[in-house]
Amino acid sequence: MNAAPKIVDSVLREIEAREDQIVALTQDLIRFPTVNPPGEAYRPCAEYLGNRLLKRGFQVEYVRAEGTPGDSDKYPRINVVARREGKRKGPCVHFNSHIDVVQTGAGWTVDPFGGEVKDGKVYGRGACDMKGGLAASVVAVEALLDSGFDLPGAVEISGTVDEESGGYGGVAYLAERGWFSQPRVDHVIIPEPLNVDRVCIGHRGVWWAEIETLGRIAHGSMPFLGDSAIRHMSAVLEKIEHELYPALAARHSDMPVVPEGARQSTMNINSLHGGEGEEFTGLPVPCVADSCRMIIDRRFLIEETIESVKGEVTALLDRVAKERPSFKYKMRELFSVQPSMADRDGPVASATAKAVRQILGKEAQIVCSPGTYDQKHVDRIGKLKDCIAYGPGVLDLAHQPDEWVGIADMVNSAKVMAVSTMDLLTRG
Ligand SMILES: [Zn+2]
Repeated sequence: MNAAPKIVDSVLREIEAREDQIVALTQDLIRFPTVNPPGEAYRPCAEYLGNRLLKRGFQVEYVRAEGTPGDSDKYPRINVVARREGKRKGPCVHFNSHIDVVQTGAGWTVDPFGGEVKDGKVYGRGACDMKGGLAASVVAVEALLDSGFDLPGAVEISGTVDEESGGYGGVAYLAERGWFSQPRVDHVIIPEPLNVDRVCIGHRGVWWAEIETLGRIAHGSMPFLGDSAIRHMSAVLEKIEHELYPALAARHSDMPVVPEGARQSTMNINSLHGGEGEEFTGLPVPCVADSCRMIIDRRFLIEETIESVKGEVTALLDRVAKERPSFKYKMRELFSVQPSMADRDGPVASATAKAVRQILGKEAQIVCSPGTYDQKHVDRIGKLKDCIAYGPGVLDLAHQPDEWVGIADMVNSAKVMAVSTMDLLTRG
């Protein structure tokens, strides 16, 4: 810790005294129903955040991601980036939060956009993922600015959109335009809900593809005159079950992915459709299926390449073809994300882990996320490796009904964010 201990103590006291502000800010953010899709209330939510930071001496800019998926005059993809310059030269620490939330779904016992406070928790869609984290980072930085800490370098806070749908109108768009690259930014903390005592250094990769097996239509009473695409697909499934799944399970990783079950390559069969369309009325007609389609969702490790992931599936299909003379297939790639992993001993991960130890009195768990988040864009597009996720929400509550964030966790994570920011800004 380079910052004077007296200043650190006063910052921590300031944050404790601002518990009500953290709660109120979280409630205000939850009350903007920023549901994605379609991208509701992005502008008022971004402006609310921008106006607050403008009053605190931040330079505030709004960036609309024109032409990105879903962007329209009715649902503009509005991002806000606020920057506060320090008194002298130094690095820049950036806190990035997505302001979009997923649909509410069924099963709520509270108003999803009410921001109700009960038993030390704030409830609502986005409380955990990740408006509570955003509120904690804002109050952490405000407390730091008010403490008399001689801020070198710069601090940035952004509220970005569309993380839940891939981040193309949010962090990806900004990263393509230099907002997440050196020399502008040096360290990025994304307050995603990975639990208050964990530092998340990255995430696995994603590859989605559709495999279609092809057959020949014939009368269902004489299937031997046709060629069933469903039977071909069943041969594919057999190979997946007995060859691919064991191979994936045996692949061990240096990525500390949580939960434990995700610490390997995985593949989910997202959907499977063959033969008669699902929306027929009346009785089905007797036909041999000439097409069967399957969508796969493959999650891969930093030790794998996307080429090897694809190659493994095409090799499997080619093995099926050797055993089944009339086997024909098509493969269509739908979506991919590269895995990302920061150095666990790098500045931002080590400063945050050290701050967790100081504030919570225990070792931070260094983890990777089973799914992806915006770190991929900071890493791959912005070419900025020193990026982690650290925030107060409980991972398992994300996207659930009655989502909440703990008030004590928000206060503690704000302290961790403030201490690690001071550390990062005053190193060398
Ligand atoms: Zn999130």
